[in-house]
Amino acid sequence: MNIILLGPPGAGKGTQAAHLVETRGMIQLSTGDMLRAARTSGTEMGNIVADVMDRGELVTDEIVIGLIREQLETAEGNGFIFDGFPRTLAQADALGALLEEKGESLDAVIEMQVDDDTLVQRVVNRGKEAAAAGQPVRADDNEESMRTRLMEYYKKTAPLIGYYYAKGQISSIDGLGAIEEVQGAIAGVLEG
Ligand code: ADP
Repeated sequence: MNIILLGPPGAGKGTQAAHLVETRGMIQLSTGDMLRAARTSGTEMGNIVADVMDRGELVTDEIVIGLIREQLETAEGNGFIFDGFPRTLAQADALGALLEEKGESLDAVIEMQVDDDTLVQRVVNRGKEAAAAGQPVRADDNEESMRTRLMEYYKKTAPLIGYYYAKGQISSIDGLGAIEEVQGAIAGVLEG
């Protein structure tokens, strides 16, 4: 089973993906994680990616589609969870084509709904908690980058809700509850 977790930054996609990996043996493909790995490479490409990410803007479709293509060629497991991908209509089309090439289907798109004030609060808190514990703070976990990330989401990613709705593939869940409640809602979609 292959699924997309769709939702604004701070919606809890990564947390829920980790749970699905643990309980179902699925493979999490997070383009955010892949890009954070790429930026530490010290290459010119890595530096460009780092600047774009820190501002809260989207990295080019070409780069992220390339990363996903590579993973789809090699990763093996009990289905893929796409986390933070696709983020544009071009990425959604590319994913459809890549899955088709592999003879795979897209089984569910789960939209996690969380209001903006909660999102900003969560992400700013995540930054503060990491700093207090001496852990690395994501350079984009501050209010200014977060506002840009939200604007990017509404302009470029939210249209995917209509795109997958038209294909009859979207299920929307409330992302505001406790982590276990959201886990339950996702299980409901996957088993429903
Ligand atoms: P969040 O969902 O909390 O914003 P991510 O870890 O998914 O965090 O992404 C962090 C940043 O990485 C994004 O703000 C963007 O700059 C870049 N990024 C991640 N995935 C994509 C993608 N599919 N397309 C373009 N840029 C991406």
